[in-house]
Amino acid sequence: PQTRHWQALGHAHHLPPFSDYRQLKEHGPRIITRASGVYLWDSEGNCILDGMAGLWCVNVGYGREELVEAASRQMRELPYYNLFFQTAHPPAVELARAIAELAPPGMHHVFFTGSGSEANDTVLRLVRHYWAIKGQPRKNVVIGRWNGYHGSTVAGASLGGMKAMHGQGDLPIPGIEHIDQPYWFGEGGGLDPEAFGIRVADQLERKILEIGEERVAAFIAEPIQGAGGVIIPPDSYWPRIREILRKYDILFAADEVVCGFGRTGEWFGSQYYGLEPDLMAIAKGLTSGYLPMGGVVVRDRIVEVLEEGGEFYHGFTYSGHPVAAALALENIRLLREEGIVERVRTRTGPYLQRRWRELAEHPLVGEVRGLGMLAALELVKDKKTRERFPADLAAGMRCREHCFANGLVMRAVGDTMIVAPPLVISEAEIDELIAKARHCLDLTASEMPG
Ligand code: PLP
Repeated sequence: PQTRHWQALGHAHHLPPFSDYRQLKEHGPRIITRASGVYLWDSEGNCILDGMAGLWCVNVGYGREELVEAASRQMRELPYYNLFFQTAHPPAVELARAIAELAPPGMHHVFFTGSGSEANDTVLRLVRHYWAIKGQPRKNVVIGRWNGYHGSTVAGASLGGMKAMHGQGDLPIPGIEHIDQPYWFGEGGGLDPEAFGIRVADQLERKILEIGEERVAAFIAEPIQGAGGVIIPPDSYWPRIREILRKYDILFAADEVVCGFGRTGEWFGSQYYGLEPDLMAIAKGLTSGYLPMGGVVVRDRIVEVLEEGGEFYHGFTYSGHPVAAALALENIRLLREEGIVERVRTRTGPYLQRRWRELAEHPLVGEVRGLGMLAALELVKDKKTRERFPADLAAGMRCREHCFANGLVMRAVGDTMIVAPPLVISEAEIDELIAKARHCLDLTASEMPG
């Protein structure tokens, strides 16, 4: 009865994000009431293994008392103060230092925001401001990638390349262009992965020349596209992209909102791929999702130019929020002192990948891929030809619903199934995740024609 009460309230008053409002009218939302470790409980008492760490963010797992303590201590001491007009408070500057210690060399400053979307809005404004200070205000176009995800604000959704999002609200805004993603399984067109990686990377050069190099401010990309379907680029991809960016003096903004804080087994995805970003957008794992917070980590040579520019007219009421910052500091301490990132790199990441690869034998699976605590598989009608199921069969959605009903959160992006569990997941819990995923693939297969 309580479930129905909450569902009725939701229906009467709540417009939830990224939800199909037609479907919600028919069946109410699932109500999640509590969580511990890698598990969630719904209002009916069902226990569900959270294979997505919330939205790729609960890196240290649920129920960490240390984080609760850190936040409540800060709340008593100084619950809020702003950072506008040359003000600071200890948690913000301590956190900025902690992030700088973990970031790639030469990145020592952080601009705080309230979310990943705000971080990417900040990236857009920062790169344009940077070139304007350098006397090149026309160098203001930013190139992103089709199917990339950089958030839901007008700038974030524009930088991203989700066509469904662009279709709602007249996006992208002017001054933003896109190139293809390095999605070999879906778009490789018969090339081997390395040749394909070069081909899609070379699109960046063509796009720069088409726009005019004097017009292009920056390229923005996730080291591994998350929401687009855990797109692991071929090895040839990033080195070629780096060459092109250097050749034309174009800034590189790495969106580390998903990859940051250990998901790949390195602190940042940029470190895994040996990238040298000029800016890094961060959020999610920064606080393990316990409180909202994001930021942009900025390279020293950019900061030097910004210093010449005087006031940057940009910032948020909650930039560097002291409670979120104190919690983030404690979160980073846990990640470090418990060796969580190291464990993902050396033990549990390889273990998940090994066990995940076993699913490749399933008749419904056309490809498996992954890195660290990120993994995806592609549902196909025909393993050999990679033919997909007709869209109206909604194979991915069915699989996702079977998972939920059987105690596993697995995300569906079309017919790509994704997991990104808390980084603290144990080997036994990984075994459980794989067993449940396999069972739900079987259930999905039994409903598919042929
Ligand atoms: N960038 C990436 C790569 C993301 O995956 C997301 C969220 O999923 C965002 C940015 C936006 O972050 P937020 O939802 O905190 O605004």
